[in-house]
Amino acid sequence: MALMINEECTLCDACVLECPNEAISEGDDIYTIDALRCTECVGHFDEPQCKPVCDPDCIVPNPDFVESPEELRQKYEMLTA
Ligand code: SF4
Ligand code: SF4
Repeated sequence: MALMINEECTLCDACVLECPNEAISEGDDIYTIDALRCTECVGHFDEPQCKPVCDPDCIVPNPDFVESPEELRQKYEMLTA
């Protein structure tokens, strides 16, 4: 399941450089996560790297992208092929 950023984002920029997949970018009002690039850090780390640095805790699961660990692994392999 890819993660997403909700409206509590304060645009602090802390998460961007943490993402190994370059999935996070500045949007119009809040930062956004490209769900097609977010593997929940599968393939790189054991845990999502963006969540712990987010003070408002506004990085949450994206209900439109429910994916199994195997699917996240396949996404990682596609991104790094
Ligand atoms: Fe990037 Fe990992 Fe956060 Fe997904 S969970 S946006 S891959 S840092
Ligand atoms: Fe927004 Fe959280 Fe990222 Fe800061 S760390 S830009 S508050 S999502």
